[in-house]
Amino acid sequence: MWFRRDLRTHDHPALRAAIAQSRGGPLLPLFVIDPVEWQEWGEPARAHLTASLRALAEDLGGLHVRVGDPVAVLPALAGELGPLSVHVSADHAPRVRGRDAAVAAALVGSGSRLVASGSHYAVPPGTVLKPDRTPYRVFTPFHRAWEAVGWPPPVPPGPRPRILAVSGAQSPPPVQLPAGLLLPPAGERAALAAWRAFADGPLAQYDTDRDRPDRPGTSRLSVHLRWGEVHPRTLLAGLGTSRAHVRFRTELAWREFYADVLHRHPETEWATLDPTFAAMQHDEGPEAEQAFAAWAHGRTGYPFVDAGMRQLRAEGWMHNRVRMVVASFLVKDLHLPWRRGAAEFMRWLVDGDVASNAHGWQWVAGCGTDAAPYIRVFNPVTQGLRFDPEGDYVRRHVPELRDLPGAAAHEPWRHPARRRGDYPDRIVDHAEERAEALRRFAAVR
Ligand code: FAD
Repeated sequence: MWFRRDLRTHDHPALRAAIAQSRGGPLLPLFVIDPVEWQEWGEPARAHLTASLRALAEDLGGLHVRVGDPVAVLPALAGELGPLSVHVSADHAPRVRGRDAAVAAALVGSGSRLVASGSHYAVPPGTVLKPDRTPYRVFTPFHRAWEAVGWPPPVPPGPRPRILAVSGAQSPPPVQLPAGLLLPPAGERAALAAWRAFADGPLAQYDTDRDRPDRPGTSRLSVHLRWGEVHPRTLLAGLGTSRAHVRFRTELAWREFYADVLHRHPETEWATLDPTFAAMQHDEGPEAEQAFAAWAHGRTGYPFVDAGMRQLRAEGWMHNRVRMVVASFLVKDLHLPWRRGAAEFMRWLVDGDVASNAHGWQWVAGCGTDAAPYIRVFNPVTQGLRFDPEGDYVRRHVPELRDLPGAAAHEPWRHPARRRGDYPDRIVDHAEERAEALRRFAAVR
């Protein structure tokens, strides 16, 4: 059983298939650290993965780790152990599809085969189609059709596998976590505990609290879903018909929608879905670089933006409302390409997911799926006042503003005497930059 982003033992069709095929014989649980992929992940994601592999090894009673290109590692293992059936969860990410095809081809020579089952989604990407058999580009009708296609209940647990121990195991490279970064526990047990805690508490108010970064209103399950420590089917099976539950199911559907869009348009990992935007004019040069650095380090002088970027560096996660506001700020106030922001997110996010990240950014930048027209520009101050009305979120993440009470934390320029340390002045004027963004948009249109 070759684990990838499915680091769990329950509700796992591929593991179930591997156990069934081994018919009580030994099973080798394997994880391959591909140095290329490892390099691409940020340190927070690597730390989470390392902890998650430890948890999986404990839950299974063993996990064989190898470091190398899977296209070479899998055939080498088949050479050592004899012909293998290599079970995997089907992965629809553009690059993984190509890699899996290469592994399958490389296995043929040893009489081995790659067997894919399940997927990381309730409904596998590529399944939901319009009546005319073409894919959806708009969320609402996709969502309706996704619900109509439906999904099976969670896969019941199989018998406990007999774990094969083989020599040659390697360890993940050491990880040096950036100072001040605190990550939540990894692994399936942590994921299920987080789901239970959310389902027994905040879920009941999810429809009203999900937009409030000052409250613990969301599940924070994105990290566990990213690494497959829980399958979305398990979450969907626990939902009823209340407004809050329906809303939570809708958010899970966004994850499925973006995976479907990326599956159909693999180039949109870094290219705009709407080609009109390829001609968009961006700022360049030393000032643009300075502006990018100020944004990345949470030093724009706009407290809600800065709190978000500092939360990202402190927790490897950011609240969805704030992701939208910081993304809008980079693209429409600083006139920098969304790709740069997406790459910075991937460097820090533990839940960094190619589909949700690329299309979350494109949604905000107005160049992706339909929902946010370019002309809707988030105002970083009014967004803060609306979704963090008492300023608690800002004060939690921006210590220089801790002496500003209540909503005053969102407008420190009105209270210069109460700022601590060297909190910066606003690096741009939002009203002016909004007008400039609209001018550039009109030019490409
Ligand atoms: P909850 O509110 O508890 O939602 C439950 C689950 O639904 C989430 O865990 C997630 O899997 C899914 N979900 C919720 N909102 C969205 C959404 N807008 N798009 C897709 N799935 C959603 N999510 C990622 O998982 N990885 C990313 O790399 C990522 N990058 C993003 C970049 C930008 C610019 C934006 C605007 C959004 C991005 N999102 C990403 C979506 C969303 O912000 C996170 O999924 C959410 O904040 C995770 O917190 P949670 O688990 O508490 O969410």
